[in-house]
Amino acid sequence: MKRIKEKRTIDLGGRKVAYLLITSSAAGRVRIAIKRGGEMTVTKPKFVPENAISVFLRDKSGWIIEKIDFLKNIKATPILKSGRKEYLQYKKTALNLVGDKVKSFNKFYNFGVKKISVRNQKTRWGSCSRSGNLNFNFRVVYLPDYLVDYIVVHELCHLGELNHSRKFWDLVSQTIPKHRELRRELRKYF
Ligand SMILES: [Zn+2]
Repeated sequence: MKRIKEKRTIDLGGRKVAYLLITSSAAGRVRIAIKRGGEMTVTKPKFVPENAISVFLRDKSGWIIEKIDFLKNIKATPILKSGRKEYLQYKKTALNLVGDKVKSFNKFYNFGVKKISVRNQKTRWGSCSRSGNLNFNFRVVYLPDYLVDYIVVHELCHLGELNHSRKFWDLVSQTIPKHRELRRELRKYF
């Protein structure tokens, strides 16, 4: 697999947007990824010429600017200072985020998940009930993606083991082998 990375900027509706252009022999189509913090990466297959990318980005400029601003803002807000206002603002994003992750990890675990909800909590990242409901803190939107994966897998595995026994951590390890490290990292946020 060959990958070429180049720095580019484009004018989108009067605004200069920097991005990383990756040309990959393995890519099947053009993909845009915008990370928390607002950095954008565009991946294109080898056969797509660069001027086609400019057209593609200008075509989606409204969506791109909106997404960059949203994700920039999220990184700038201190996690514990955010309260009810941010909860109302981000709860839907949080629900989509954890919902997608529960779905994809549960393809592996196959537990009976009932309801997924998002709450404004100050002391915990998630919880799980005996009946199969999963709750998550809306503040997951501020975390790096791999920590959200861990939080989701942790609560999901409680549907198999409702405790923190050896058996429980063995379940977690099946998809997140580095969970110990991630738990330590997560403590920095609360
Ligand atoms: Zn737990």
